[in-house]
Amino acid sequence: MLSILRRDLVYRDISPDIVEHDNDIDADQWSYDNRDVYRGRFDPQYTSYDLNVYWLYDDNLKRVGLAEHEVDDPAVFEVLWFRENPFATLYQNDGWKSKQKTLWSVIPHEAYADCLEDDFTTVFDRCLTSKYRLITPSMILDEPTIYECQKCKKQSLSPLPNCKVVNKKPYFTSTNYIFIDESFIMYEPPKRRQSVSSEHPLPEEELPDSQPELKDEELPKESALQSLGQKEIPQLPQS
Ligand SMILES: [Zn+2]
Repeated sequence: MLSILRRDLVYRDISPDIVEHDNDIDADQWSYDNRDVYRGRFDPQYTSYDLNVYWLYDDNLKRVGLAEHEVDDPAVFEVLWFRENPFATLYQNDGWKSKQKTLWSVIPHEAYADCLEDDFTTVFDRCLTSKYRLITPSMILDEPTIYECQKCKKQSLSPLPNCKVVNKKPYFTSTNYIFIDESFIMYEPPKRRQSVSSEHPLPEEELPDSQPELKDEELPKESALQSLGQKEIPQLPQS
């Protein structure tokens, strides 16, 4: 989850399990966004950001989100929730929707068979020779590098130890992105500009009817990522 109060902070641990420092405490009940939750102790690992970060729990002590408060002024805070899918959680934007189907539904059966044969370890590398780039939430946080052998032209997201002259290329250079999770389920980015708080989307008439676009604030700063959410998701040809 991208922090709202700090542009350079990412909350990477989004397991629903209780965090260790909240074990065995009598958590107080709080209400955030009109939702009753239990709030743990502040998480010490974020104090260097001058934030008091509290994990929020449901009745079963499963983590459901967090509240980040300014240390200097606790009345200034933002709440981040675990949402329906990993992209919605990452960007805190419910406009990210599951396409309810996997990558395998749009690629030729032979390609699926090849991936299956490799135990799905080569899916990303195989896509490098196409114009499509598969993007997972973790790739948005840490952009992969493409390794390309000058001689045999082999491309991979892992270093090519058996090749002598290997060039490195950035990954986010395509215009054809397919957003997937770890189970290869596909997602589409928000169709329309949304306000940061998904509970209060902009009224319909104020929306520009240009191409899909994310608010800048919702994107990580780095380079090509600025435009990631703006891309149309392509359909792979059924050949
Ligand atoms: Zn080579």
